[in-house]
Amino acid sequence: MTTISIAGVDVDTRHWIGGQRVASSETFDTVSPIDGTVLGQVSRGSKAEADAAVAAAKAAFPAWARMTPAERQEILHRLADSIEAHVEELSQIETHDNGSLLRSHRRGVMPRVAMNIRFFADYAVEKLSHPVWQTRGHDNVVSWDPSGVAAIITPWNAPLMLATWRIGPALASGDTVVLKPPEWAPLTASYFADLAHEEGLPAGVFNVVQGFGAEAGAPLTSNPDVARICFTGSVPTAKVIARAAAENLTPCSFELGGKSPTVILDDADLDLAVDLAIEQYDNAGQVCLAGTRLLVQDGIADAFAARFAERAAMIRQGDPRDEEMQIGPNIHLKHIERVQGFVDRAKSDGATVVYGGDVNEDLGSHYFRPTLIRDAPSGSEILTQEVFGPVLTMQTFGTDEEGLALANGTEFGLAACVVSGDRARAEAFTKHLVAGTIWVNCFFVRDLGAPFGGSKKSGIGREGGVWSFDFYADVKNTVYAPNGWKE
Ligand code: NAD
Repeated sequence: MTTISIAGVDVDTRHWIGGQRVASSETFDTVSPIDGTVLGQVSRGSKAEADAAVAAAKAAFPAWARMTPAERQEILHRLADSIEAHVEELSQIETHDNGSLLRSHRRGVMPRVAMNIRFFADYAVEKLSHPVWQTRGHDNVVSWDPSGVAAIITPWNAPLMLATWRIGPALASGDTVVLKPPEWAPLTASYFADLAHEEGLPAGVFNVVQGFGAEAGAPLTSNPDVARICFTGSVPTAKVIARAAAENLTPCSFELGGKSPTVILDDADLDLAVDLAIEQYDNAGQVCLAGTRLLVQDGIADAFAARFAERAAMIRQGDPRDEEMQIGPNIHLKHIERVQGFVDRAKSDGATVVYGGDVNEDLGSHYFRPTLIRDAPSGSEILTQEVFGPVLTMQTFGTDEEGLALANGTEFGLAACVVSGDRARAEAFTKHLVAGTIWVNCFFVRDLGAPFGGSKKSGIGREGGVWSFDFYADVKNTVYAPNGWKE
Protein backbone atom coordinates (compact mmCIF):
# COMPACT_ATOMS: atom_id res chain seq x y z
CA MET A 1 0.00 0.00 0.00
CA THR A 2 1.39 3.38 -0.96
CA THR A 3 -1.59 5.40 0.18
CA ILE A 4 -3.08 6.09 3.60
CA SER A 5 -6.64 7.28 3.92
CA ILE A 6 -7.21 9.76 6.75
CA ALA A 7 -10.72 11.06 7.38
CA GLY A 8 -11.45 10.36 3.72
CA VAL A 9 -8.28 12.08 2.44
CA ASP A 10 -5.75 9.98 0.53
CA VAL A 11 -2.09 10.62 1.32
CA ASP A 12 0.72 9.09 -0.70
CA THR A 13 3.41 7.60 1.52
CA ARG A 14 6.23 7.52 -1.01
CA HIS A 15 8.95 10.09 -1.59
CA TRP A 16 8.41 12.90 -4.08
CA ILE A 17 11.53 13.24 -6.22
CA GLY A 18 11.90 15.06 -9.54
CA GLY A 19 8.14 15.25 -10.01
CA GLN A 20 7.65 11.51 -9.48
CA ARG A 21 6.52 9.26 -6.67
CA VAL A 22 9.39 7.01 -5.67
CA ALA A 23 9.05 4.09 -3.24
CA SER A 24 11.73 2.57 -1.00
CA SER A 25 11.89 -1.15 -0.41
CA GLU A 26 11.86 -0.47 3.33
CA THR A 27 9.09 1.35 5.20
CA PHE A 28 8.35 2.63 8.69
CA ASP A 29 5.06 2.91 10.58
CA THR A 30 3.48 6.23 11.25
CA VAL A 31 1.39 6.07 14.41
CA SER A 32 -1.45 8.38 15.45
CA PRO A 33 -0.93 9.86 18.93
CA ILE A 34 -4.71 10.17 19.26
CA ASP A 35 -5.13 6.48 20.06
CA GLY A 36 -1.87 4.76 19.12
CA THR A 37 -3.22 3.24 15.90
CA VAL A 38 -0.80 2.62 13.06
CA LEU A 39 -1.95 4.89 10.25
CA GLY A 40 0.18 3.10 7.67
CA GLN A 41 3.65 2.56 6.28
CA VAL A 42 5.84 5.30 4.85
CA SER A 43 8.82 4.89 2.51
CA ARG A 44 12.02 4.75 4.53
CA GLY A 45 14.60 6.76 2.59
CA SER A 46 18.34 6.28 2.60
CA LYS A 47 21.36 7.91 0.96
CA ALA A 48 20.21 6.74 -2.49
CA GLU A 49 16.90 8.62 -2.27
CA ALA A 50 18.51 11.65 -0.61
CA ASP A 51 21.13 11.84 -3.37
CA ALA A 52 18.46 11.42 -6.06
CA ALA A 53 16.41 14.24 -4.56
CA VAL A 54 19.41 16.59 -4.43
CA ALA A 55 20.27 15.69 -8.04
CA ALA A 56 16.67 16.43 -9.12
CA ALA A 57 16.70 19.74 -7.26
CA LYS A 58 20.07 20.64 -8.78
CA ALA A 59 18.79 19.86 -12.29
CA ALA A 60 15.68 21.99 -11.74
CA PHE A 61 17.63 24.92 -10.24
CA PRO A 62 18.82 26.84 -13.36
CA ALA A 63 15.34 27.25 -14.87
CA TRP A 64 13.69 28.12 -11.53
CA ALA A 65 16.49 30.54 -10.64
CA ARG A 66 16.17 32.34 -13.99
CA MET A 67 12.49 32.99 -13.59
CA THR A 68 11.72 36.48 -12.34
CA PRO A 69 10.46 36.87 -8.76
CA ALA A 70 7.10 37.90 -10.28
CA GLU A 71 6.91 34.68 -12.32
CA ARG A 72 7.69 32.63 -9.23
CA GLN A 73 5.17 34.69 -7.26
CA GLU A 74 2.41 33.69 -9.70
CA ILE A 75 2.98 29.98 -9.11
CA LEU A 76 3.47 30.42 -5.38
CA HIS A 77 0.23 32.41 -5.13
CA ARG A 78 -1.62 29.56 -6.82
CA LEU A 79 -0.06 27.19 -4.29
CA ALA A 80 -1.09 29.45 -1.37
CA ASP A 81 -4.64 29.60 -2.77
CA SER A 82 -4.70 25.82 -3.03
CA ILE A 83 -3.50 25.44 0.59
CA GLU A 84 -6.32 27.75 1.66
CA ALA A 85 -8.78 25.62 -0.30
CA HIS A 86 -7.43 22.47 1.40
CA VAL A 87 -7.21 23.68 5.00
CA GLU A 88 -9.64 21.00 6.12
CA GLU A 89 -7.73 18.13 4.45
CA LEU A 90 -4.37 19.36 5.74
CA SER A 91 -5.80 19.87 9.24
CA GLN A 92 -7.24 16.37 9.37
CA ILE A 93 -3.97 14.79 8.20
CA GLU A 94 -1.81 16.77 10.64
CA THR A 95 -4.10 16.17 13.63
CA HIS A 96 -4.17 12.43 13.01
CA ASP A 97 -0.43 12.29 12.42
CA ASN A 98 0.92 14.54 15.19
CA GLY A 99 -1.99 14.90 17.65
CA SER A 100 -2.20 18.71 17.72
CA LEU A 101 -5.67 20.25 18.05
CA LEU A 102 -7.82 20.10 14.94
CA ARG A 103 -9.35 23.50 15.70
CA SER A 104 -5.87 25.08 15.93
CA HIS A 105 -4.95 23.59 12.57
CA ARG A 106 -8.17 24.79 10.97
CA ARG A 107 -8.13 28.32 12.34
CA GLY A 108 -4.48 29.12 12.86
CA VAL A 109 -1.84 26.73 11.64
CA MET A 110 -2.94 25.87 8.11
CA PRO A 111 -3.92 29.43 7.19
CA ARG A 112 -0.43 30.36 8.40
CA VAL A 113 1.00 27.63 6.12
CA ALA A 114 -0.61 29.41 3.16
CA MET A 115 0.68 32.73 4.46
CA ASN A 116 4.23 31.33 4.69
CA ILE A 117 4.14 30.75 0.93
CA ARG A 118 2.30 33.94 -0.06
CA PHE A 119 4.16 36.35 2.23
CA PHE A 120 7.66 35.52 0.99
CA ALA A 121 6.59 35.34 -2.67
CA ASP A 122 5.22 38.88 -2.27
CA TYR A 123 8.21 40.06 -0.27
CA ALA A 124 10.60 39.06 -3.08
CA VAL A 125 8.63 41.16 -5.55
CA GLU A 126 7.60 44.14 -3.44
CA LYS A 127 10.12 44.66 -0.68
CA LEU A 128 13.42 43.02 -1.51
CA SER A 129 15.50 46.03 -2.45
CA HIS A 130 18.15 48.15 -0.90
CA PRO A 131 18.66 51.83 -1.58
CA VAL A 132 21.70 52.39 -3.80
CA TRP A 133 24.44 54.29 -1.97
CA GLN A 134 27.63 55.80 -3.24
CA THR A 135 31.26 55.30 -2.39
CA ARG A 136 33.45 58.06 -3.88
CA GLY A 137 30.88 58.45 -6.67
CA HIS A 138 30.55 54.68 -7.27
CA ASP A 139 27.09 53.08 -6.96
CA ASN A 140 26.66 50.03 -4.68
CA VAL A 141 23.83 47.86 -6.01
CA VAL A 142 22.76 45.00 -3.74
CA SER A 143 20.93 41.96 -5.08
CA TRP A 144 19.68 38.71 -3.63
CA ASP A 145 20.54 35.92 -6.09
CA PRO A 146 19.34 32.31 -5.92
CA SER A 147 21.97 30.15 -4.24
CA GLY A 148 21.12 26.55 -5.25
CA VAL A 149 19.57 23.60 -3.45
CA ALA A 150 18.23 24.17 0.06
CA ALA A 151 17.92 21.11 2.32
CA ILE A 152 15.18 21.68 4.88
CA ILE A 153 14.90 19.36 7.89
CA THR A 154 11.97 19.73 10.27
CA PRO A 155 10.59 18.41 13.59
CA TRP A 156 7.21 16.88 14.41
CA ASN A 157 5.59 19.44 16.69
CA ALA A 158 4.31 21.66 13.86
CA PRO A 159 5.54 19.82 10.78
CA LEU A 160 3.96 21.66 7.86
CA MET A 161 4.00 25.10 9.45
CA LEU A 162 7.71 24.86 10.25
CA ALA A 163 8.53 23.37 6.84
CA THR A 164 6.71 26.04 4.84
CA TRP A 165 8.18 28.83 6.98
CA ARG A 166 11.45 27.82 5.27
CA ILE A 167 10.11 26.50 1.92
CA GLY A 168 8.35 29.84 1.28
CA PRO A 169 11.45 32.06 1.36
CA ALA A 170 13.68 29.39 -0.22
CA LEU A 171 11.44 29.04 -3.28
CA ALA A 172 10.80 32.79 -3.45
CA SER A 173 14.59 33.32 -3.45
CA GLY A 174 14.86 31.07 -6.52
CA ASP A 175 16.36 28.13 -4.64
CA THR A 176 15.09 24.60 -5.15
CA VAL A 177 14.23 22.49 -2.13
CA VAL A 178 14.62 19.03 -0.66
CA LEU A 179 12.48 18.57 2.45
CA LYS A 180 13.12 15.82 5.01
CA PRO A 181 9.98 15.74 7.16
CA PRO A 182 9.93 14.29 10.70
CA GLU A 183 9.56 10.51 10.93
CA TRP A 184 6.95 10.86 13.69
CA ALA A 185 4.67 13.07 11.55
CA PRO A 186 5.60 12.71 7.89
CA LEU A 187 2.26 12.95 6.11
CA THR A 188 1.33 16.60 5.48
CA ALA A 189 4.62 17.11 3.60
CA SER A 190 3.51 14.50 1.10
CA TYR A 191 0.08 16.03 0.60
CA PHE A 192 1.72 19.45 0.22
CA ALA A 193 3.87 18.01 -2.60
CA ASP A 194 0.71 16.99 -4.46
CA LEU A 195 -0.75 20.48 -4.11
CA ALA A 196 2.50 22.07 -5.32
CA HIS A 197 2.57 19.76 -8.32
CA GLU A 198 -1.07 20.46 -9.20
CA GLU A 199 -0.44 24.21 -9.09
CA GLY A 200 2.43 24.04 -11.54
CA LEU A 201 5.59 23.97 -9.46
CA PRO A 202 8.04 22.49 -12.01
CA ALA A 203 9.37 18.96 -11.44
CA GLY A 204 12.41 18.91 -9.16
CA VAL A 205 11.84 22.38 -7.67
CA PHE A 206 10.36 20.81 -4.55
CA ASN A 207 11.23 17.28 -3.36
CA VAL A 208 10.39 15.21 -0.30
CA VAL A 209 12.56 12.45 1.13
CA GLN A 210 10.85 10.52 3.92
CA GLY A 211 12.67 8.60 6.62
CA PHE A 212 14.80 8.73 9.74
CA GLY A 213 17.28 11.47 10.48
CA ALA A 214 20.45 9.40 10.44
CA GLU A 215 19.42 7.59 7.23
CA ALA A 216 17.59 10.13 5.08
CA GLY A 217 18.55 13.44 6.70
CA ALA A 218 22.27 12.99 7.25
CA PRO A 219 23.09 12.35 3.55
CA LEU A 220 21.45 15.68 2.70
CA THR A 221 23.65 17.55 5.15
CA SER A 222 26.88 16.07 3.78
CA ASN A 223 25.99 16.45 0.10
CA PRO A 224 28.33 18.98 -1.58
CA ASP A 225 25.54 19.98 -4.00
CA VAL A 226 23.47 21.37 -1.15
CA ALA A 227 23.92 25.15 -0.91
CA ARG A 228 21.93 25.79 2.28
CA ILE A 229 20.96 23.65 5.26
CA CYS A 230 18.01 24.79 7.24
CA PHE A 231 17.36 22.77 10.37
CA THR A 232 14.68 23.05 13.01
CA GLY A 233 15.06 20.59 15.87
CA SER A 234 17.08 19.75 18.92
CA VAL A 235 20.54 20.91 19.99
CA PRO A 236 22.17 17.43 19.87
CA THR A 237 21.03 16.94 16.25
CA ALA A 238 22.20 20.44 15.33
CA LYS A 239 25.70 19.56 16.53
CA VAL A 240 25.77 16.47 14.29
CA ILE A 241 24.53 18.52 11.32
CA ALA A 242 27.03 21.31 11.98
CA ARG A 243 29.87 18.77 11.79
CA ALA A 244 28.56 17.36 8.50
CA ALA A 245 28.08 20.85 7.06
CA ALA A 246 31.60 21.87 8.06
CA GLU A 247 33.07 19.44 5.55
CA ASN A 248 31.62 21.46 2.64
CA LEU A 249 31.35 24.76 4.52
CA THR A 250 27.62 24.73 3.79
CA PRO A 251 25.83 27.66 5.44
CA CYS A 252 23.34 26.54 8.11
CA SER A 253 20.36 28.18 9.73
CA PHE A 254 19.46 26.52 13.03
CA GLU A 255 16.23 27.00 15.00
CA LEU A 256 16.64 24.92 18.13
CA GLY A 257 15.25 24.31 21.55
CA GLY A 258 14.45 26.56 24.46
CA LYS A 259 13.95 26.85 28.19
CA SER A 260 12.21 30.15 28.04
CA PRO A 261 11.07 32.15 31.07
CA THR A 262 7.60 33.58 31.71
CA VAL A 263 8.44 36.42 34.09
CA ILE A 264 5.64 37.82 36.22
CA LEU A 265 6.51 41.07 37.94
CA ASP A 266 4.64 42.10 41.09
CA ASP A 267 2.73 44.88 39.33
CA ALA A 268 1.28 42.48 36.75
CA ASP A 269 -2.43 42.11 36.06
CA LEU A 270 -2.88 38.75 37.77
CA ASP A 271 -5.64 37.50 35.45
CA LEU A 272 -3.52 38.29 32.41
CA ALA A 273 -0.49 36.63 34.03
CA VAL A 274 -2.47 33.46 34.72
CA ASP A 275 -3.88 33.42 31.16
CA LEU A 276 -0.41 33.76 29.68
CA ALA A 277 1.06 31.14 32.00
CA ILE A 278 -1.69 28.65 31.11
CA GLU A 279 -0.95 29.23 27.41
CA GLN A 280 2.47 27.70 27.97
CA TYR A 281 0.73 24.30 27.99
CA ASP A 282 -0.41 24.80 24.38
CA ASN A 283 0.18 21.88 22.01
CA ALA A 284 0.70 19.71 25.09
CA GLY A 285 3.89 21.63 25.82
CA GLN A 286 5.46 20.70 22.53
CA VAL A 287 6.29 24.25 21.50
CA CYS A 288 9.88 25.39 21.16
CA LEU A 289 8.87 28.90 22.28
CA ALA A 290 6.99 27.82 25.40
CA GLY A 291 7.88 29.84 28.48
CA THR A 292 8.09 26.75 30.65
CA ARG A 293 9.88 28.44 33.56
CA LEU A 294 7.35 30.51 35.47
CA LEU A 295 9.34 33.10 37.41
CA VAL A 296 7.07 34.97 39.81
CA GLN A 297 8.00 37.94 41.99
CA ASP A 298 7.67 37.34 45.73
CA GLY A 299 4.85 39.79 46.52
CA ILE A 300 2.32 38.05 44.28
CA ALA A 301 3.68 34.48 44.23
CA ASP A 302 1.08 32.94 46.56
CA ALA A 303 -1.87 34.68 44.92
CA PHE A 304 -0.59 33.70 41.48
CA ALA A 305 0.05 30.08 42.47
CA ALA A 306 -3.46 29.71 43.90
CA ARG A 307 -5.18 31.16 40.84
CA PHE A 308 -2.94 29.28 38.45
CA ALA A 309 -3.69 25.94 40.15
CA GLU A 310 -7.44 26.65 39.89
CA ARG A 311 -7.15 27.37 36.19
CA ALA A 312 -4.85 24.44 35.46
CA ALA A 313 -7.34 22.07 37.08
CA MET A 314 -9.90 23.24 34.51
CA ILE A 315 -7.75 22.49 31.44
CA ARG A 316 -9.67 20.16 29.15
CA GLN A 317 -7.38 17.46 27.78
CA GLY A 318 -8.57 14.82 25.35
CA ASP A 319 -9.13 13.83 21.73
CA PRO A 320 -7.62 16.65 19.64
CA ARG A 321 -10.51 16.36 17.14
CA ASP A 322 -12.92 17.50 19.84
CA GLU A 323 -13.45 21.27 19.51
CA GLU A 324 -13.84 21.60 23.28
CA MET A 325 -10.35 20.32 24.11
CA GLN A 326 -7.53 22.67 25.03
CA ILE A 327 -4.70 20.19 24.84
CA GLY A 328 -4.35 16.76 23.27
CA PRO A 329 -1.88 13.91 23.41
CA ASN A 330 1.90 13.88 23.20
CA ILE A 331 3.49 12.69 20.02
CA HIS A 332 4.97 9.25 20.77
CA LEU A 333 5.34 6.72 23.58
CA LYS A 334 9.12 7.15 23.46
CA HIS A 335 8.68 10.87 23.95
CA ILE A 336 6.29 10.34 26.86
CA GLU A 337 8.86 8.07 28.49
CA ARG A 338 11.35 10.91 28.15
CA VAL A 339 8.94 13.44 29.72
CA GLN A 340 8.13 11.01 32.56
CA GLY A 341 11.86 10.53 33.14
CA PHE A 342 12.31 14.29 33.62
CA VAL A 343 9.47 14.42 36.17
CA ASP A 344 10.69 11.35 38.07
CA ARG A 345 14.23 12.68 38.27
CA ALA A 346 12.92 16.08 39.43
CA LYS A 347 11.16 14.28 42.29
CA SER A 348 14.34 12.45 43.25
CA ASP A 349 16.17 15.78 43.12
CA GLY A 350 13.78 16.98 45.86
CA ALA A 351 11.26 18.94 43.75
CA THR A 352 7.51 18.90 44.49
CA VAL A 353 5.02 17.88 41.83
CA VAL A 354 2.12 20.23 42.59
CA TYR A 355 -0.23 18.53 40.13
CA GLY A 356 -0.05 16.18 37.14
CA GLY A 357 3.22 14.30 36.85
CA ASP A 358 2.04 11.27 34.90
CA VAL A 359 -0.06 9.96 32.04
CA ASN A 360 -3.85 10.15 32.29
CA GLU A 361 -4.56 6.51 31.50
CA ASP A 362 -8.30 7.20 31.29
CA LEU A 363 -7.58 9.03 28.05
CA GLY A 364 -4.95 6.60 26.75
CA SER A 365 -1.23 6.13 26.98
CA HIS A 366 -0.35 9.27 24.98
CA TYR A 367 -1.92 11.87 27.27
CA PHE A 368 0.56 13.29 29.78
CA ARG A 369 -1.28 15.46 32.30
CA PRO A 370 -0.51 19.17 32.57
CA THR A 371 2.12 19.28 35.30
CA LEU A 372 3.55 21.92 37.63
CA ILE A 373 6.78 21.45 39.53
CA ARG A 374 7.97 23.65 42.40
CA ASP A 375 10.92 23.76 44.79
CA ALA A 376 13.34 22.24 42.28
CA PRO A 377 16.89 22.80 43.51
CA SER A 378 18.71 25.58 41.69
CA GLY A 379 20.63 24.25 38.69
CA SER A 380 18.73 20.95 38.63
CA GLU A 381 17.88 19.25 35.37
CA ILE A 382 14.18 20.17 35.34
CA LEU A 383 15.14 23.86 35.52
CA THR A 384 17.86 23.73 32.89
CA GLN A 385 16.94 21.18 30.19
CA GLU A 386 14.16 21.29 27.63
CA VAL A 387 11.38 18.80 28.49
CA PHE A 388 9.13 19.50 25.47
CA GLY A 389 6.03 18.21 27.24
CA PRO A 390 3.25 19.76 29.37
CA VAL A 391 5.57 20.38 32.30
CA LEU A 392 6.07 23.84 33.80
CA THR A 393 8.24 24.81 36.74
CA MET A 394 7.63 27.70 39.12
CA GLN A 395 10.32 29.70 40.90
CA THR A 396 10.10 32.95 42.84
CA PHE A 397 12.43 35.93 43.03
CA GLY A 398 12.88 39.12 45.03
CA THR A 399 14.19 42.13 43.12
CA ASP A 400 13.88 42.75 39.36
CA GLU A 401 17.63 42.26 39.16
CA GLU A 402 17.28 38.79 40.72
CA GLY A 403 14.45 37.98 38.32
CA LEU A 404 16.61 38.99 35.38
CA ALA A 405 19.48 36.80 36.57
CA LEU A 406 17.09 33.86 36.91
CA ALA A 407 15.56 34.49 33.47
CA ASN A 408 18.97 34.68 31.80
CA GLY A 409 20.41 31.79 33.81
CA THR A 410 20.06 29.26 31.01
CA GLU A 411 22.10 28.12 28.06
CA PHE A 412 19.07 28.79 25.82
CA GLY A 413 17.76 32.11 24.48
CA LEU A 414 14.84 31.46 22.17
CA ALA A 415 12.04 33.51 23.72
CA ALA A 416 10.73 35.16 26.87
CA CYS A 417 7.41 36.45 28.11
CA VAL A 418 7.26 39.32 30.60
CA VAL A 419 4.09 40.41 32.42
CA SER A 420 4.10 43.82 34.06
CA GLY A 421 1.73 46.76 34.60
CA ASP A 422 4.46 49.34 34.04
CA ARG A 423 5.84 49.89 30.56
CA ALA A 424 9.03 51.66 31.71
CA ARG A 425 9.78 48.84 34.14
CA ALA A 426 9.09 46.23 31.46
CA GLU A 427 11.38 48.06 29.05
CA ALA A 428 14.17 48.19 31.62
CA PHE A 429 13.72 44.47 32.23
CA THR A 430 13.60 43.37 28.59
CA LYS A 431 16.62 45.52 27.68
CA HIS A 432 18.91 43.03 29.37
CA LEU A 433 16.98 39.83 28.66
CA VAL A 434 18.78 37.53 26.23
CA ALA A 435 16.27 36.02 23.77
CA GLY A 436 15.47 36.12 20.06
CA THR A 437 11.83 37.06 20.72
CA ILE A 438 10.34 38.72 23.80
CA TRP A 439 6.61 39.15 24.35
CA VAL A 440 5.43 41.72 26.88
CA ASN A 441 1.90 41.15 28.23
CA CYS A 442 1.23 38.85 25.28
CA PHE A 443 2.38 35.56 23.80
CA PHE A 444 2.84 34.12 20.33
CA VAL A 445 2.19 37.29 18.36
CA ARG A 446 4.23 36.55 15.23
CA ASP A 447 4.82 38.68 12.16
CA LEU A 448 6.52 36.98 9.21
CA GLY A 449 8.45 40.18 8.53
CA ALA A 450 10.02 40.20 11.99
CA PRO A 451 13.34 38.51 12.75
CA PHE A 452 12.95 35.11 14.36
CA GLY A 453 15.58 32.82 15.82
CA GLY A 454 17.43 31.91 18.95
CA SER A 455 20.25 33.39 20.99
CA LYS A 456 22.86 31.25 22.74
CA LYS A 457 22.17 27.52 22.18
CA SER A 458 18.69 28.17 20.78
CA GLY A 459 19.95 28.68 17.28
CA ILE A 460 22.19 30.23 14.71
CA GLY A 461 20.90 33.03 12.51
CA ARG A 462 17.59 34.80 12.11
CA GLU A 463 14.82 34.24 9.59
CA GLY A 464 11.71 36.23 8.69
CA GLY A 465 11.40 39.18 6.26
CA VAL A 466 14.71 40.19 4.75
CA TRP A 467 16.61 37.95 7.18
CA SER A 468 15.19 34.90 5.39
CA PHE A 469 16.41 36.17 2.04
CA ASP A 470 19.80 37.00 3.53
CA PHE A 471 20.11 33.30 4.32
CA TYR A 472 18.59 31.53 1.30
CA ALA A 473 19.96 33.93 -1.32
CA ASP A 474 23.50 34.79 -2.29
CA VAL A 475 23.67 38.44 -1.34
CA LYS A 476 25.69 40.31 -3.93
CA ASN A 477 27.03 43.86 -4.13
CA THR A 478 27.85 45.18 -7.61
CA VAL A 479 29.85 48.41 -7.69
CA TYR A 480 29.39 50.67 -10.74
CA ALA A 481 32.05 53.25 -11.41
CA PRO A 482 30.98 56.77 -12.43
CA ASN A 483 33.41 56.74 -15.35
CA GLY A 484 34.23 54.49 -18.34
CA TRP A 485 30.78 54.68 -19.94
CA LYS A 486 30.43 55.31 -23.71
CA GLU A 487 27.55 57.76 -24.03
P1 NAD B 1 15.27 16.20 16.39
O1 NAD B 1 16.48 17.05 16.43
O2 NAD B 1 15.32 14.87 17.01
O3 NAD B 1 14.80 15.96 14.88
C1 NAD B 1 14.47 17.01 14.01
C2 NAD B 1 14.64 16.53 12.58
O4 NAD B 1 16.01 16.22 12.35
C3 NAD B 1 13.86 15.26 12.24
O5 NAD B 1 13.33 15.38 10.94
C4 NAD B 1 14.95 14.18 12.27
O6 NAD B 1 14.65 13.09 11.45
C5 NAD B 1 16.13 14.95 11.73
N1 NAD B 1 17.43 14.39 12.08
C6 NAD B 1 17.77 13.66 13.18
N2 NAD B 1 19.08 13.31 13.12
C7 NAD B 1 19.58 13.83 11.96
C8 NAD B 1 20.86 13.81 11.35
N3 NAD B 1 21.89 13.20 11.89
N4 NAD B 1 21.01 14.46 10.19
C9 NAD B 1 19.98 15.10 9.61
N5 NAD B 1 18.74 15.14 10.14
C10 NAD B 1 18.54 14.52 11.30
O7 NAD B 1 14.12 17.07 17.04
P2 NAD B 1 12.61 16.66 17.32
O8 NAD B 1 12.56 15.82 18.54
O9 NAD B 1 12.00 16.15 16.07
O10 NAD B 1 11.96 18.08 17.61
C11 NAD B 1 11.94 18.68 18.86
C12 NAD B 1 13.00 19.76 18.96
O11 NAD B 1 12.80 20.75 17.96
C13 NAD B 1 12.94 20.49 20.27
O12 NAD B 1 14.23 20.69 20.77
C14 NAD B 1 12.30 21.82 19.90
O13 NAD B 1 12.59 22.88 20.78
C15 NAD B 1 12.88 22.04 18.55
N6 NAD B 1 12.07 23.02 17.78
C16 NAD B 1 12.60 24.27 17.55
C17 NAD B 1 11.85 25.22 16.87
C18 NAD B 1 12.38 26.61 16.64
O14 NAD B 1 11.85 27.30 15.78
N7 NAD B 1 13.40 27.05 17.35
C19 NAD B 1 10.58 24.90 16.41
C20 NAD B 1 10.08 23.64 16.69
C21 NAD B 1 10.85 22.70 17.37
